[in-house]
Amino acid sequence: MSPPTGLYVHWPYCARICPYCDFNVVRARSVDEEAWAKAFEADLTHLLARFGRRPLVSLYLGGGTPSLMSANLIGRIREAANRLFGLETGAEVTLEANPNDVTEASVAQWQGAGVNRLSLGVQSFDDASLRFVGRDHDARAARRAVDLTLRVFARSSFDLIYALPGQTSDDWETELKGALATGARHLSIYQLTVEPGTAFGRQVARGEWAPPGEGLDADLYELTHDVTTAAGLPPYEVSSHAAAGNEAVHNGLYWTGADWLAIGPGAHGRLTTPQGRVATEGTRNIHAYLDAPSRQRLREEMLDDGAVLTERVSAGLRRVKGIEIATLGPAAPRLLDAARPWAAEGLLEIVDGHLMATRTGRQVLDALLAEIL
Ligand code: SF4
Repeated sequence: MSPPTGLYVHWPYCARICPYCDFNVVRARSVDEEAWAKAFEADLTHLLARFGRRPLVSLYLGGGTPSLMSANLIGRIREAANRLFGLETGAEVTLEANPNDVTEASVAQWQGAGVNRLSLGVQSFDDASLRFVGRDHDARAARRAVDLTLRVFARSSFDLIYALPGQTSDDWETELKGALATGARHLSIYQLTVEPGTAFGRQVARGEWAPPGEGLDADLYELTHDVTTAAGLPPYEVSSHAAAGNEAVHNGLYWTGADWLAIGPGAHGRLTTPQGRVATEGTRNIHAYLDAPSRQRLREEMLDDGAVLTERVSAGLRRVKGIEIATLGPAAPRLLDAARPWAAEGLLEIVDGHLMATRTGRQVLDALLAEIL
């Protein structure tokens, strides 16, 4: 029997490119939706032939800004996924949305197309912060979109970004408490990271501004933990905070080493097969993607045991619940040996058959993973 399986669809267009973004996206000028509808259907047909029918627990429309897709295209993708693979009853169908795209009319259309969860790129409720991160919505639009989303969708998530230059602990606490006061039930809270190759990366390299130092980052992380927990949305993953029962189903597949199909430029999938775990990756270039047949644009690679373990542990330790050691197979004893010194340092815990990063450990997870893997 296959593990729980989801479907990720990457929509590579945005209205404009944010200066911190290193995703595989381009500015939407003219978009041939019919070509994409055909490409996605062909990809799903190809994946069905390659990996067999797997009932889907989730469909995630990400990007990019998939709220720029027409509801008709969203509905066609969902219909094809359901026809070819089957969506389980109550499957989570998430659409990432820009606050500016959220209107009474659009949410009704999205619901009609089968969307039952919205992930809103709010980023901030502060106009100056929104201007700094180059978003095309303001705080008023963010609040309006959040209110409407909470009124219409039983399940939703809002992205927030912190550790902006000049942001103090007090600033962030006020903003975070304001976000929680909206009645949000799931928040994805990211620290601003400056990636090379982005506009921010170039600005920082030129010395135009500097991100906050590690000390403040750590303070803001701790503050985030305390404030969200006090509000009943404790972290359940490094960046994800939810009221009980509102945890993301789809992202949970990534963190638990389950399976997901992935279509669209640059999208990564993972499938368990009798021969081993297969990684798929969509061709990144949008034009090349549309020009190639599915068997060429969705490349496959068999992962070796080491790669599977690295992914499993890297993703699993992001979860507060950690990894069930029994699922690690023959690699478990070696991993536990490597973990014990860090458990003694208070960065990892081995409890009830689970290996977990502590609150402090999750702050330095990348360094910790480099030590134990
Ligand atoms: S909207 Fe999201 S995906 Fe698009 S450029 Fe901005 S951060 Fe990147």
